[in-house]
Amino acid sequence: MDSLKPLVDDPSLLCPPLIIAGPCSAESRSQLIDTAIGLSECGIRILRAGVWKPRTKPGCFEGAGEAALRWLADAKAATGMLTATEVATPAHVEAAVSAGVDILWIGARTSANPFAVQDIADALARIGRDIPVLVKNPVNPDLELWIGALQRLYAAGTHRLGAIHRGFSAYGHHTYRNVPQWNIPFELRRRYPALPLLADPSHISGRRDLIAPLSQQALDMGFDGLIIESHIDPDHALSDAAQQITPATLRTILDTIRRRDGSFTKTTEIQLLRQHIDALDTELLEILAKRMDISRQIGRYKKDHNIPVVQTERYDDILRSRISQAAEIGIPDDFVRHIFSLIHEESVRLQVNLLSHDS
Ligand code: PEP
Ligand code: MN
Repeated sequence: MDSLKPLVDDPSLLCPPLIIAGPCSAESRSQLIDTAIGLSECGIRILRAGVWKPRTKPGCFEGAGEAALRWLADAKAATGMLTATEVATPAHVEAAVSAGVDILWIGARTSANPFAVQDIADALARIGRDIPVLVKNPVNPDLELWIGALQRLYAAGTHRLGAIHRGFSAYGHHTYRNVPQWNIPFELRRRYPALPLLADPSHISGRRDLIAPLSQQALDMGFDGLIIESHIDPDHALSDAAQQITPATLRTILDTIRRRDGSFTKTTEIQLLRQHIDALDTELLEILAKRMDISRQIGRYKKDHNIPVVQTERYDDILRSRISQAAEIGIPDDFVRHIFSLIHEESVRLQVNLLSHDS
């Protein structure tokens, strides 16, 4: 991917940060146009809206389909914004391009599937119109698969390419809906410094209140832009209601964000390393919370079955096995012993508390 073209020709759209905003889904003509007008009044120049929605389970709102392409064209006529939508099949590509959609993106579930990406790449090559395409990371944290999707498009002649980091699915409850694992987009950037890299704080967080800090974090880290879900009436959105914000809120966020004069290359190495540490500490804390929760469940079981809280053989086993596991990955014996004795102490405290507090 060594001769990428600018994502769009108008350089003023790219001046950092590039902002794309709009509803998760186009739900009706008036919802889309009202949102677009609100965004355009806030200075946003690229409108996103999902037309075909890849929902995890059937029976949810799956997008308005082709009818919504007309609404996108109407929103464009009303505001002069460029439009962007998600495509997952060659038929989507053909319909979106013939309806005049300016920018396409490939969603996280699709970029995980090389057959689907190849079909899309081939459809774009048949159309031959140099349409910009943004590729979201695959749902699973696999950088090579993400790069593979970009390479398939590039090899088929799509040279206006960009990447969107939207976090990775993980089992269980986390602070973020999709865990950011920032080191993965960092590595993408290291390998392809010319590839525009956007962050999607809406899908990373899944929560309105985290859009502002995540946007700031992404820009501080040198991302080139943001794609943010915005809806004229977020509480009544038919998809992703919890993470959508009004155009006015988006404006406030963008006004308060500090824009760094820093492309990634200017971000110092120590800043990047500290960001890695912050991300890992978040994971550590989440894992600790999970471990404490299981420890509480064990405490309840012990209580119900009259089993004493402390069982020294179990503790000895844990220490022995953790110390040898740690040795294999270069963590010293004393350090592991120290950490696990603190963790064990806290687990015992939790379980003893259960005994004294419950009936
Ligand atoms: C979207 O952008 O609305 C979407 C479906 O995102 P993702 O592919 O990141 O889940
Ligand atoms: Mn969404």
